[in-house]
Amino acid sequence: MVVKLTMKVGIPRALLFYKFFPMWTTFFRELGVKVIVSPNTTKQIKTESVKHAPDEDCYSTKLYFGHVMAIKDEVDYLFIPRFGSSHKTNVSCPKFIGLAEVLQSMFPDLPPIIMPFYSTAKSGHGKRRLIYLIFSIGFKFTKNPFRIIKAARRAYKEQKVHYENLILDEKTLHKWEQTEYLLNNFLSPEEGERPIKIALVGHSYVLNDDFASLNIQQILKEHGVDYITSEQLPRSLVEKQMDKLDYNLYFDYEREILGTIMHFIERKSIDGIIHLIIFSCGPDSITGEMAARYAQRDPSVPLLQLTFDELTSETGLETRIEAFLDLSRRRKK
Ligand code: SF4
Repeated sequence: MVVKLTMKVGIPRALLFYKFFPMWTTFFRELGVKVIVSPNTTKQIKTESVKHAPDEDCYSTKLYFGHVMAIKDEVDYLFIPRFGSSHKTNVSCPKFIGLAEVLQSMFPDLPPIIMPFYSTAKSGHGKRRLIYLIFSIGFKFTKNPFRIIKAARRAYKEQKVHYENLILDEKTLHKWEQTEYLLNNFLSPEEGERPIKIALVGHSYVLNDDFASLNIQQILKEHGVDYITSEQLPRSLVEKQMDKLDYNLYFDYEREILGTIMHFIERKSIDGIIHLIIFSCGPDSITGEMAARYAQRDPSVPLLQLTFDELTSETGLETRIEAFLDLSRRRKK
């Protein structure tokens, strides 16, 4: 096989990219591959998404199609992992597993797709499988096994550093909950004035995609809100909340979402919770219903649930957020 000098691997900036981008991009770069990540979501990407994706898909999966279309002609391979789980019982969304094959069968002219499958819950995968996948991908780009090992080590390290920077430790979280300590250093409140504290809860690919979330983080910043996202909550506190359920919520990322909501409803340490829900998402519909019930049972921390799809309007959203922030401020006083 002739290996081109610089191969290009395309990674769509959507879904699990937002969780694993440090690991994925580092691995390929360390192998000497040029990584092409699709641009931030735009109106054009959304238009392409709606044109190409099946109608019944959730909005986030639809956007994935647009991101694939945005880079497919520039790359030698697409990287679309089929990630099921790294937990012995809990799983991620089944869409993550099927997407690569759906795309391949719908669009046969796509570049070859690297689609490693990994699922501890369904297939008992562990370290051996991981090593197999690392080498089987690595050997596509280099014959040097030591380079592959080095790339994998660096990738793991980058991912670890990313999590360390992103997820708060319990001490910092409690400091934020109980004192004047601010999480967002862009805020400069007047003396004696404490910004309201909000938890912004949802999937990482909604929270971090400004277009898909209609710039919600920016809106909160403009309103001087000190917010925390569900991605930042210590995993130990999420699991503590999950232990209180009398059944196992087996969608791993929904645990993060519901666990965060339950934590703040229980602690009453913030002024409100904004829950971002994706239209026609099965796991979100379960979590959304449960979160609403918890909030009704104990209404001391108001909960605003916003549903996003390709038709959600920015103006309508902003009005709802403003009204919610007003309510939260009044309750605080
Ligand atoms: S969890 Fe929901 S939003 Fe995410 S891909 Fe699955 S169906 Fe879509």
